[in-house]
Amino acid sequence: MMSRRPLIAGNWKMYLTVDEAVQLALSLAESCQGVSDRDVMLAPSFTSVAAVAQVVKDSPIQIAGQNVCWEKEGAFTGEISPVMLKNTGASMVILGHSERRHVFGENNRMVNKRLCGALQFNLTPVLCVGEKLEEREDGKTFSVLQTQVTRGLEGVSREEVEQVVIAYEPVWAIGTGKTASKEQAQEAHKFIRGVLGELYEKKLADSIRILYGGSVKPDNIDSLMAEPDIDGALVGGAALQFESFNRIIHFR
Ligand code: PEP
Repeated sequence: MMSRRPLIAGNWKMYLTVDEAVQLALSLAESCQGVSDRDVMLAPSFTSVAAVAQVVKDSPIQIAGQNVCWEKEGAFTGEISPVMLKNTGASMVILGHSERRHVFGENNRMVNKRLCGALQFNLTPVLCVGEKLEEREDGKTFSVLQTQVTRGLEGVSREEVEQVVIAYEPVWAIGTGKTASKEQAQEAHKFIRGVLGELYEKKLADSIRILYGGSVKPDNIDSLMAEPDIDGALVGGAALQFESFNRIIHFR
């Protein structure tokens, strides 16, 4: 099996002022010096992206937006374009986060448009997928994941998909303190890899990173990362404090 480089990603959601974000990023940049066997990503709110990107520019940390528009520019009040995001120093972008889907009503079609826009301008997309609690209880987990992955990647070529990162984030585990068990996460990741194999080919599917997200903490990261199809983590709450996120970055 092809080895996949681990990626630990922090989603700061709508938290931290510019000063707070810069302080935290400074500490993380220092603690990541010399880290060479894994990738680290931070997604600050848009107001902090430029300042944080500046602070981490000589460190291994990559910066991401928490969303992006599909157009380069235009009459899209409230949106940020891929060109603007890249111009501030970001190289990645979170797309289809459950809060975008379920609080702001973004559907698969819109997520797909955003993803294609990100790829067009060379931003690495982190495509988030995941079932709601009632979908899991109704036995629909796999069909939801299949639809979200397939529709999210519509029109994406073999060459382009090599850049894409998938994040499996069961909605019932985000911000709730309820982590999926490592067995539940592994099962979903293996299923998603199978879907990628059907859409593209197995060898390509084996090279795509699939992150787990949903109440990742210092005390569960090591066992999650030991699972064969879990290639990293997308971390919300625990990415807001230096001690916890630093421990997660340095998983063993
Ligand atoms: C997230 O925001 O993507 C997330 C997984 O949040 P938390 O770690 O707080 O559950």
